[in-house]
Formats: sequence, structure tokens, C-alpha cells
Amino acid sequence: MSKPVIAFYDTRSYDREFFSAILKDYPFDIRFLSVHLSADTAGMAKDCVAACVFVNDTVDSETIAALRESKVGLVAMRCAGYNNVDLKAAYGAMHVVRVPAYSPYAVAEHAAALVLTLNRKTHRAYNRVRDGNFTLDGLLGYDLHGRTAGIIGTGRIGRCLVNILKGFGMKILAYDAFPDQTYAAETGVSYVDLPTIYREAQIISLHCPLTPQTRHLVNDQAFEQMRDGVMLINTGRGELLDTRALIRALKSGRVGAAGLDVYEEEGEYFFEDLSSKVVADDVLARLLTFPNVIITAHQAFFTRDAMESIARTTLDNIQDYLRGGFLPNEICYRCEKNCVKKNKQRCF
Ligand code: NAD
Repeated sequence: MSKPVIAFYDTRSYDREFFSAILKDYPFDIRFLSVHLSADTAGMAKDCVAACVFVNDTVDSETIAALRESKVGLVAMRCAGYNNVDLKAAYGAMHVVRVPAYSPYAVAEHAAALVLTLNRKTHRAYNRVRDGNFTLDGLLGYDLHGRTAGIIGTGRIGRCLVNILKGFGMKILAYDAFPDQTYAAETGVSYVDLPTIYREAQIISLHCPLTPQTRHLVNDQAFEQMRDGVMLINTGRGELLDTRALIRALKSGRVGAAGLDVYEEEGEYFFEDLSSKVVADDVLARLLTFPNVIITAHQAFFTRDAMESIARTTLDNIQDYLRGGFLPNEICYRCEKNCVKKNKQRCF
């Protein structure tokens, strides 16, 4: 009998490398596809048992219906965030699993790299010195020691970043919709409201998930409350931030530096080589003109350790599904409301 097949959307060379390396441990095959998943491409998963997808694939109600027609019963996200999945439409039609934690260190360390680069302007120094310009004008930074960081979202990644920034001697203020006072007592982190973070923090970093409540959490009103010259880091999701409001805040000087690993409209650009093309997105193009903005193309997760962990957990998730057992990494409309997971049963 032939093996079940997984349709693997938006394949990159590194996906192929890390997933192929361990595929021999599993009783299924992978059909690597270079296209994104959408309603138009769902047919390419015909007769596959599962579709494996990433952050910029579209898993809306139309796509889910089309996947069902192709006989797909599982969407396996090879990432933590699932804001691109219509969980309500999937419920009852399709199981959805994800990789809830792979390497929070990878993302937190990238956020820290953005902080250090923006503060000490090593991105500019690198180019300047190579051009034979050994001056220091414009490269002045400040000691992180003794400064205040505001961490929005103290889950796995936020906590790793807290540890790193505490290592620099920073004072940490945190905001979370579900503050963990035990964690606060153990670490000396203070939970405060958002206005306090905006008022006091020199560096603000976003680590909450994208939900209807957090979409454009950082907007004109938030920027109005921030300190002049604040540094903003976003490795969460692009839509946590109103990018047009960020541009206004950069132009006025309210924001002194921004490190963005994610962008609201990244789906059309990130992970693609468009170096011979014109950037048609005027907002992205404007952002790229600021010397105090660093954009990385959703690479915070991208370490060897994280890729190994993502590949292993994704294939384990698919194996759990094929065996018909409980799906520990299932994310569904009901489980978000925290029901059946406790009973270790599938939701439907
Ligand atoms: P997590 O679930 O461990 O932590 C999220 C935290 O946010 C939790 O403490 C939760 O209580 C809090 N939260 C939820 N709603 C909130 C709200 N409305 N306001 C404030 N806080 C709220 O998640 P994590 O593993 O730390 O990941 C955080 C996010 O980072 C993910 O949702 C994902 O979008 C993003 N991410 C990005 C990359 C990347 O490569 N750039 C990689 C992995 C994850």
C-alpha cells in the first residue's frame, strides 16, 4: 500500500533540508510545493491527508472548503502563530495543529540583536567603515544598563527576552492580558498597564499574539503616550502595529528607532527574492528609507535549533493525527476557550 502524503506548501530550501533529514522516521511522504496555500492552490493537495503550512499561507473558509474537497483532514502549521487560520470555519471540518514552542530563545535573541544594533548603530558603522569613513558622528548610543524596557506579552518569548535584558541590567516593566504574579514575584518583573509602559519605557518589545484585541495595539494614541526617542521592537506579528502611525511617529521623532521582523503586508514580500523588482508597497518603501529602522524578513525563528525542533514537532503532530489519537498541539475554536484539551480527547 502506498504511504499517505503530506502537501507541504511554501517550501523553501531550508524546509526541504530539515524535514527531509528526519522523514525516514515517519510512515508518510511529503509533496513539496513552492506555492502558498490559498483557495486557488488547495487542489494541489488532492488526495493528501494533510496540508503543512507556514505564516503567510491563507487558511480561510474558502481554502478550508477546497482542502476538504481534496480529502485533506489536517492543517499542520509549522509555526506557533495561527492568526492566518479561520478556526471557526475549520471546526468540525478539519483539525489544525501547530508547533506551540520550538525555540523561544531564537526569537528573543533576534529581538535582542535588533535592540543592540539599533542602539549602537552597528548596521551603519559596518557600511561606513567599509567605505573608509572612520568617524563616529551619528553613531552615539546609550547604556542599556539602568534603562527601562517594556515587554508586552510575557509568554515563552517575552520571558526569554526579559532574562536577556535583565542580564544587561535593565529594569523590566511588563504588560500581559493574563499577568502571572508568581513569575513577577520570582523575577522582580513589574506588571503595569499599557499607559505606564508607554510613559516609562525606553525600549518596548511586542510578544503577544495577534488577535482581534491586539490588532493595531500600537497606534497613534499609543505613540502619543510614549517617550520621545523610544525604541520599538516587533517580532510578534505585523498587524500588532499600525505601520502608517509608526511612520508618522518616526517622522516626528517620537520613535527614535524601530526593529521590525514582521510587517502588516509581509505576505507579498517576505521570503521572496525581489531584488530585481520595484517595491510597489509605498509604506514598506518609506520604512526602508529611515536610517533608524531595521527590517528583517521574519527571520527571528530562523536558527538551526528552531528548525530541527519545528520539523520534529510538525511531523510528530501529523503522526498523532494519522494514528487517530489525542492531538496535544491541536488548536481549535473550542480549545481556544479551553475545553476538551483537559480530557485528552479530540474535539470532534
Ligand atoms: P505565548 O503564547 O507563550 O505568549 C503570549 C503571551 O501573550 C501570553 O503570556 C499571553 O497571556 C499574552 N497575551 C495574550 N493576549 C494578550 C493581549 N491582548 N495583550 C497582552 N498580552 C496578551 O507565545 P510566544 O511563544 O511567546 O509567541 C508570541 C508571539 O510571537 C506568537 O503569537 C507569534 O505571533 C510570534 N512569533 C514570531 C516569530 C518570528 O519568527 N518572528 C516566531 C515565533 C512566534
